[in-house]
Amino acid sequence: MPGSLRIAIVGGGIGGLIAALALRARGLDAAVFEQAEVLREIGAGVSIHPNAARLLRRVGLEDQLQKIGSPIGGIVLRTSQGEPITTAAGPATPAFSRGEQGYNVHRADFLNLLFDALPRGTVTLGHRCIRLEEAADRVRLSFANGVSAEADLVIGADGIRSVVQRELGLQSRPRSEGIMAYRGLVPAERLSWAGDLKDPALWLGSGRSFLLYPVAGGRLINMVAFVPTDTESEESWSAPGDLKALAAEYAGWDQPVQDTINSLEETFRWGIYDRAPLPYWSTKRITLMGDAAHPMVPHVGQGAGQSIEDGFTLAVVLEGCSADHVADRLKVYEALRRERTGNVQALARAAGKLYRSEHDDPSEKAVRLREWMAQGRWVFEHDAEKAAVDALANLGC
Ligand SMILES: Cc1cc2nc3c(=O)[nH]c(=O)nc-3n(C[C@H](O)[C@H](O)[C@H](O)COP(=O)(O)OP(=O)(O)OC[C@H]3O[C@@H](n4cnc5c(N)ncnc54)[C@H](O)[C@@H]3O)c2cc1C
Repeated sequence: MPGSLRIAIVGGGIGGLIAALALRARGLDAAVFEQAEVLREIGAGVSIHPNAARLLRRVGLEDQLQKIGSPIGGIVLRTSQGEPITTAAGPATPAFSRGEQGYNVHRADFLNLLFDALPRGTVTLGHRCIRLEEAADRVRLSFANGVSAEADLVIGADGIRSVVQRELGLQSRPRSEGIMAYRGLVPAERLSWAGDLKDPALWLGSGRSFLLYPVAGGRLINMVAFVPTDTESEESWSAPGDLKALAAEYAGWDQPVQDTINSLEETFRWGIYDRAPLPYWSTKRITLMGDAAHPMVPHVGQGAGQSIEDGFTLAVVLEGCSADHVADRLKVYEALRRERTGNVQALARAAGKLYRSEHDDPSEKAVRLREWMAQGRWVFEHDAEKAAVDALANLGC
C-alpha cells in the first residue's frame, strides 16, 4: 500500500516516470506534474544499457522492453568507406556483462510504456511548475496555470532547463562541445540491408562519425551523425536540420550511409553541450534527478540510464521514511549518486573527445574506442538498487 509520505515529482520525462514507478514498487505514492498538455511523440532512439535494463526487469517491465526495444549487441566499426575495422585484439566488442541485455528504444515508445505502467491519475499533464516555497515541514509548488500543491518532498525531474534547479539557487551553464548531431529515423523497409542491421553500426571518419541502430522492434533505423560545427547550434531535439547540408557532410562515404541520408524525410539538428557537475542537488525537502541534476553529453548513451538509476536509488532511500527524516535520506541519495554520475559525465566527455578527434587512420581511433569500452565496463555493471540497499544497511537504517 502506498505510504503516507507526500512526494511530488516535477517533470514526466523518463526520469520522473521511472521514479514514480520505482517508488510505487516500494510502497510510496508520488504525484507527477508534467508541463506538456498532451503526450506527444518527440525524440528518437535512446539506449537503455544493462545498468538500467536490470532495474527495469525488477519492476516487471522486461517483456514490454523486449517488445519495443532492439537488443544492443556488439558495435560494428567501419571506416568511412565501409571497411570493417578490427583491432589487434579482434573486432570491437561491447562492454556488457554476459547474460544481461540492454535495448535501444524509441523514446516515445518507452515513455508510453512507463506512462501505461503507472496507475491512472499519477501524472497530471498541463502543469508547468514555476515556483517552489520550502518551509520546515512542507514544500509548496506553484504552477503556471494558477494551481498550487503541497508535498513533504519535491523531486525535480524537469530536464536540462530545470526550474527546480533554479529554485535551489543553482545554475548549470551549457558549454558547446564544438559538434552537433544530425538525427533522424528511417522506416527499415526503405533500406534493403536493414534486416541485417541487428547491432549498432558506427562509421568512423576524421572528425566525424555516423551511427545507425534499429529501434521500435526493428521497424525503424535510428541515425545519429556527429559533425564539427563552429556555430552555436540550438540545444534541441527537434530543431529542423537541412538534408542537403547533411548529405554534403558525408559525401563519398560508404553506400549504407548514403542510402540512409537519401531515405530520410527530415532531419533534426542537436547541438551538443556539456555542463560541469553541480555543487549540490538537495535542500532539506527538495532534490534533483536525471538531466536536471547531471546533464551529460550523449557519447556513452547514459542520459536515460543514469536517470533510471537515480529513480531506483530514491525509492530505496525513501522506503519507510517519515516526513521528518526526508533530509537525512536525501543526503544518502546525494552521496550515492553525485560521485557516480560525475564519473559517468567525465567518461562521456572523454568519449566525445575521441569521437571528434582527427585521425588519418580510422583504426587508430577504433583501438582507442575499444580501450575506452573495456574501461567503461563499470558503467554497465553497476547495480544502483543494491548500492543503495547496502548503503542504508551500513548506516544501520
Ligand atoms: C523532447 C525530448 C526529446 C528527447 N530525445 C532524445 C533522444 O532522441 N535521444 C536521447 O538520447 N535523449 C533524448 N532526450 C533526452 C533523454 O530523454 C534524457 O537525457 C533522459 O531520459 C533523462 O531524462 P529526464 O527525465 O531527466 O529529463 P527529460 O527527458 O528532459 O524530461 C524532463 C521532463 O520535464 C518536463 N518539464 C520541464 N520543465 C518543467 C516544469 N517547469 N514543470 C513541469 N514539467 C517540466 C519536460 O516537459 C519533460 O517531460 C530527449 C528529451 C526530451 C525532453
